[in-house]
Amino acid sequence: MKYISTRSGAPALNFEDAMLTGLARDGGLYVPETIPQISHAEIAAMSGLSYEETAYRVMRPFIGDTFSDDGFRDIINRAYGGFDHAARAPLVQLESNHFLLELFHGPTLAFKDFAMQLIGQLFQDALGRRGERVTIVGATSGDTGSAAIEAFRGLDNVDVFVMYPHGRVSEVQRRQMTTPTESNVHALAVDGDFDDCQALLKDMFNDFEFRDTVKLAGVNSINWGRVLAQVVYYFTSAVSLGAPHRPVSFTVPTGNFGDIFAGYIARRMGLPIEQLVVATNQNDILHRCISGQGYHVGEVQPSISPSMDIQVSSNFERVLFDAYDRDGKAVVQLMDELKTGGFTVSQGALQYLQQNFVSDRVSEDQTRASMSETLKSSGELLCPHSAVGVKVAQDKRDPNVPMITLATAHPAKFPAAVQEATGVHPPLPPRMSDLYDRPERLTRIAKDLAAIEDHIKGQIAK
Ligand SMILES: *Cc1c(COP(=O)(O)O)cnc(C)c1O
Repeated sequence: MKYISTRSGAPALNFEDAMLTGLARDGGLYVPETIPQISHAEIAAMSGLSYEETAYRVMRPFIGDTFSDDGFRDIINRAYGGFDHAARAPLVQLESNHFLLELFHGPTLAFKDFAMQLIGQLFQDALGRRGERVTIVGATSGDTGSAAIEAFRGLDNVDVFVMYPHGRVSEVQRRQMTTPTESNVHALAVDGDFDDCQALLKDMFNDFEFRDTVKLAGVNSINWGRVLAQVVYYFTSAVSLGAPHRPVSFTVPTGNFGDIFAGYIARRMGLPIEQLVVATNQNDILHRCISGQGYHVGEVQPSISPSMDIQVSSNFERVLFDAYDRDGKAVVQLMDELKTGGFTVSQGALQYLQQNFVSDRVSEDQTRASMSETLKSSGELLCPHSAVGVKVAQDKRDPNVPMITLATAHPAKFPAAVQEATGVHPPLPPRMSDLYDRPERLTRIAKDLAAIEDHIKGQIAK
């Protein structure tokens, strides 16, 4: 299995190298050259299997031969062993034919643990085998950073630096990044917004001297290994509700387009998915684009669902690559236009997007109403991101097809917004109840590439 860049200007790599590299050297994203197919018989045979066994069967065709079969099984088992629910990704029912897929039973209470815990184990195995050490730098709107730190803290071959927008992450998110005591963990509070952090990270990857000096590796949502890990729960949940005999639909609260892109891959592998619904908050560039208004970047409007406060959605490039018939030159041109504010999508590409995705956006008031109405009607306390998903799912779903809305974080990760909307204070799970008492450690830093690169070089030299 080979991975190629969406900009067609970087060498094809195997799974392990694509994962360790993150962003391709031409600025593109790695995608599999071909999508492995899973037959209906193979999907039917997943019924009743453990999460880990299904994960093995779904991901194995993408991995190639750098990891042995037994080694890969062990990696999966270690990755999900720290989750506090035996099903890993349990389904609960909200209303007739509408289900919630709870993706918040990992160590940092958000779905990003599914990908990051796996990536941590894959990196540990690959780097140990190669005798290499890397520097992982991430940009986060809150959840990626805490998940990355949790996955890499204390590992031998890795230093992990996380840039987050100062003052724009929730207190729980911040504390999850600033309280780990391991010396290979570094939280950087950047004076800027998430798009600034993401742009700094891109610039760092394009600074080849720095990239090679510190052996930079990326685990942001553009990392193919992360997308792959997220494909699994589309299979486990669909199979629980009767796939492949009965198609299901998914609604996905979306920011960087990573999670929903994993659903698109699941469908391309052969999982019968009726609708794939993109749900955005007021930062609705993806909804505008899919509804034919072009991809034009606005100012980020901070919201109560901050992990989706994104205007430049990095994984969207992957679906554009397919929408433009895998023409890397066309993608390069779009990304050039993006530097000056945006682009319009060709008629053919728009048709492709609309064949594959439905979309809608939700206002702040609608998000709060969704939290309080869901609590009243089903007893479920939603985080604000999941509430965005539930509202869009209710508006867009076909009542005859089971709809699965992805619950992307635990409500206790966003207690202020949940309490304001519902009057209920969501408690942290007992294993983290002392989070507010642990001392914090962070470096506040300007949104200045040279300053951040110097800081990183200084820290890893220690
Ligand atoms: C990251 C995140 C999202 C958005 O996911 P993408 O893969 O970036 O689209 C939604 N909700 C929560 C809680 C998140 O952490």
